[in-house]
Amino acid sequence: MASQPDDEQPEGLSARFFQKLASGVPGVLFTYWLSADHLSHRYPYVSDQVKELFGAEPQKLRENADSVFRVIHPDDTAGVGASILHSAQTLQAWCYRARLRMKNGEYQWYEAHSVPERQSDGSTLWYGQFHNIQHYKELEQHLRDSEAEFSFQAGFQKLIARLSSEFIHLGFGSIDDCIDELLKSIGAFFSVDRAYVYAFSPDLVTMTNTHEWCAPGVPSLMADQQAVPIDDFRWWQQQIRLMEAQSHVVFIEDTADLPSEAGNERALLEQQGVSSMFCVPVRIRGQVMGFFGVDSLSRRSWRRDMADLLIIVSGLLSGALERNRLEEDLLNQSIRDPLTGLHNRRYLMPRLDEILAASNRHGDRFCLAMFDIDHFKRINDNLGHLAGDQVLMRFTDVLLAHTRTTDVVSRFGGEEFLVVFTGVTEREVQTLVMRIMEAVREEEWLVDGKALTVTVSAGAVCVSELTDEPATPEALIARADDRLYQAKDGGRDCLVDASGLSRI
Ligand code: GH3
Ligand code: MG
Ligand code: MG
Repeated sequence: MASQPDDEQPEGLSARFFQKLASGVPGVLFTYWLSADHLSHRYPYVSDQVKELFGAEPQKLRENADSVFRVIHPDDTAGVGASILHSAQTLQAWCYRARLRMKNGEYQWYEAHSVPERQSDGSTLWYGQFHNIQHYKELEQHLRDSEAEFSFQAGFQKLIARLSSEFIHLGFGSIDDCIDELLKSIGAFFSVDRAYVYAFSPDLVTMTNTHEWCAPGVPSLMADQQAVPIDDFRWWQQQIRLMEAQSHVVFIEDTADLPSEAGNERALLEQQGVSSMFCVPVRIRGQVMGFFGVDSLSRRSWRRDMADLLIIVSGLLSGALERNRLEEDLLNQSIRDPLTGLHNRRYLMPRLDEILAASNRHGDRFCLAMFDIDHFKRINDNLGHLAGDQVLMRFTDVLLAHTRTTDVVSRFGGEEFLVVFTGVTEREVQTLVMRIMEAVREEEWLVDGKALTVTVSAGAVCVSELTDEPATPEALIARADDRLYQAKDGGRDCLVDASGLSRI
């Protein structure tokens, strides 16, 4: 019978047998020794893979373990040291994960397992192995990344869904609150320092910061950013043109990298403390009316799809602004007279109700005057309807020039205009109306090169006069109308009020 080779004996393993066994293990087997005073350490045994993997000589490691400790990633060194000491003190197994520098200079993750044993002289000896877990670490990272990406995408979808439903249920006039809410949510979601909307003036000469959100502690720029001349920022102007042409996104990763022609822009951004920014155009009916942007005060890395995500947000803004503009237009169309742009009777009556209610509650004074252009039919008959229209528009200008914004100036009917003068007495309204009549007379009425004489008659009434009947808008208007007819009867170009007829 052939005897079994010495080195294949299962008991009393020979060094050769052990080495063969160790070479088949996908890692490094070791015994690690640490002196009782923790000042010296070595690997009494370490398998040859340590040379292949890290270029460390097993022979040298038998005397000193330093060269293996030198391949530990700087960020992991302290942790490795502390965990070894802990294991030495408690005699619990030493298990640790750390990055080690391979022969090619690249760091890879390794995991070590070993069991300590106290020696009679107080030193500690560990028996164990460490093996590569890079693949596992990468998989783990990948999983973590895709989980984070999934929850980011889901969060973004949810945010957009919430904001669009807010915009859909938007009550008329609350668009500003909704935009503020959008900026706040988007700003917080992307962890930026500022989120804002700018509007261009219709001639693209200036831009104004209309809405802004700032992260806590970040200063607001809104007050300074009103009607800023775009001409001062040539580079920006060019970006706006690109915005107009395509849905161009302006991305400044680092203000320090701006081209030399963007000197003014860089100075401004540096003054504002902005390091990095994104701006996306906002369109209404296809026309760029401004932009939506986010700022970061520190240099940061942005998601690669950041531009696409911000375009989705600006699409939401565009849709909301467009709808709001449409509603505003419709509302204006229904409450304004298209020829003069003045409010019409549909607007006037409820306004008058409000003014009257406020007057009943607080005793606010107000008066109203009905104006009617004298012999207007003749102007139409002699010069044509278009000439008549021009007179109506010019008379509107006179009225607007002689009233305050708190007064209500409306076109009541064909060539009849009703003005509500707020906060005035009977005497004051007489002066105001006479001033308007005087201005009409003094205006040079040139229509199609032909000089005209235009005069108006007026009837005025003050709320304080209606003591014997309930003050209603209808009662007030009826009284003013009645006096207007008295003025016509009285020879035109004059005013009739409580004090009777006055003429300049
Ligand atoms: P009086 O001095 O008594 O007020 O005489 P008048 O000619 O001004 O009054 P009348 O009520 O007879 O005529 C008003 C005219 O105004 C009749 C109508 O065709 C004309 N008119 C009403 N609306 C418009 C408009 O929008 N444009 C023009 N050009 N004319 C209008
Ligand atoms: Mg008239
Ligand atoms: Mg009339």
